[in-house]
Amino acid sequence: ATPTAIMVGTGLGARRGVLFKNAAALEASAGIQTVVMDKTGTLTKGEPEVTDVITAPGADRDEVLRLVAAVERQSEHPLADAVVRHAEARGVRRAEARHFENVPGHGATAVVDGHRVAVGNRRLAAREGAGLGPLAAQRDELAATGRTVVIATVDGRAAALVGIADAARDTSAAAVAELHALGVEVVMLTGDNEATARRIAGRLGIDSVIAEVLPGEKAAKIAELQRGGAAGDGSASGSASGPGRRRVAMVGDGVNDAPALAQADVGIAIGAGTDVAIETADLVLMRSDPLDVPTALRIGRGTLRKMR
Ligand code: ADP
Ligand code: MG
Repeated sequence: ATPTAIMVGTGLGARRGVLFKNAAALEASAGIQTVVMDKTGTLTKGEPEVTDVITAPGADRDEVLRLVAAVERQSEHPLADAVVRHAEARGVRRAEARHFENVPGHGATAVVDGHRVAVGNRRLAAREGAGLGPLAAQRDELAATGRTVVIATVDGRAAALVGIADAARDTSAAAVAELHALGVEVVMLTGDNEATARRIAGRLGIDSVIAEVLPGEKAAKIAELQRGGAAGDGSASGSASGPGRRRVAMVGDGVNDAPALAQADVGIAIGAGTDVAIETADLVLMRSDPLDVPTALRIGRGTLRKMR
C-alpha cells in the first residue's frame, strides 16, 4: 500500500483502539480467510466462577475442598483462582500443600496432609489412575452446559467435580456474525474439553472447534490450518501448501497463545491480555472487544483497496 493509505489505515484503527504494529500487519489483515479465537479470556470474560461442587459418594465436601484449595493456592492458573475464592467464601480451613507440581495443559498436583491430590482435567485424572465411576454422568452433564469441569482426585480416586462457568463477552456472538458477513471462517482453539468448548462455540455461532489442545500444540494447529488441513470438525478445507495456502489470523490473550500468535499471518492480542501476548502480536485490541476483530479486517481491506 502507499505510505498515505498506510497512515490513514493506522490512524483509523488507532481511533478505535485497534493498534497495528506495522504496515505489514495492516496489509496482511486484508487477506485473512480464517480467524482462530482462543476461548478463555478472548471469547469469554476470563472471570471464572465456581458454580457446582459434586462429591463422590462418601467424600466430605468441605474436606475435599480444603485439599483442593491447598493445591490451587500454589497454582497461577485462572481456574485455580476461582477454586480458591470459592473455598474461602465457604470458610474452608486452610491446609499446607507440599511437593507442588504444575502440569501444563492438565492441572496441578501436590501432597496435602499426607494425601496425594491432583486437580485438573480428565487427562490428569487418568494419569493418577482414577476412573470417574459414578461421577462420569455428572461430568458429562456439567460439560454439556458449557461449564469447565475440574476433577479432583485424592490418592488416585476421583473425589469431586468442580463446575466452573466463564461468561462469554457481550459482543462475542456479534463479532462472529460480522466475520461471517465478511466471508471469514471462525474457529475456536482451546485447551478445555471438547463438550464444554462445543457448547460455547454453538451458542456463539462458531464454525468449528479444536479442543483439548496442549499449550505447546497451539502453534502447530495454526500451521495446519494455514496448510488447509482439516481441523476440529473439519469445516476448514482448502488446498495444500503453496500459493493456495489459507491466510489465518489468531486472536488470544494468554502466555500459551504467544507461539500461535507468532505463527499466524496476523497475531491479534486482547489488550487486557498478558504482556507476552501483546508483545508477540501484530496488532492489539486495546478495548478487548471481539467486535474490533472484524473492524481490523475491514480497515485492512479498505487500505489495500486504496492502493489499487
Ligand atoms: P486453556 O488453553 O483453555 O487456557 P490450559 O491449557 O491452561 O487451557 O488448561 C487446559 C485444561 O487443564 C483446563 O481447561 C483445565 O481443565 C485443566 N487445568 C489446567 N490447570 C488447572 C488448574 N490449576 N486447576 C484446575 N484445572 C486445570
Ligand atoms: Mg485465553
